[in-house]
Amino acid sequence: MVNRCCDRPALSPLARLAQRGVPHGNRGHDDAYDHTRLSRCATCGSGVVESHSHDCWDPSDHSSWDMYWWWRIDPADMDVVLELVGDCPAPLKPGCDCRLHRGLGASTPPAGALSRETPYEKAPVPAAKVRIDDGIPGWA
Ligand SMILES: [Zn+2]
Ligand SMILES: [Zn+2]
Repeated sequence: MVNRCCDRPALSPLARLAQRGVPHGNRGHDDAYDHTRLSRCATCGSGVVESHSHDCWDPSDHSSWDMYWWWRIDPADMDVVLELVGDCPAPLKPGCDCRLHRGLGASTPPAGALSRETPYEKAPVPAAKVRIDDGIPGWA
């Protein structure tokens, strides 16, 4: 869908880190929905973090409904991420209670300059890293 790491991205989902609410258009949707997801590119080995925030509280202004943030994780920084995902019993379950989900699902990476955009625009993507602090992973 979108090029966030290299010229020939081949992203596959690695983990659903967090999810709040019911997606727009689905039964039970109540204005707000957001999620944070982690993918890995088979071409370049980078990780891609996507955070989506939806709020349709104001029906007159569609342009304000959806916001996207993207980060890229260097292939060299993916080892620790893959290890955490490997230790998680359910990487695609946002409610999982393992340290991957507790650590990385609680927040998003620090937003760099201009990381807010729709997925259809091209802009430099800030880099993110995972750092383990006292056994609990966090974004750096
Ligand atoms: Zn790539
Ligand atoms: Zn987990």
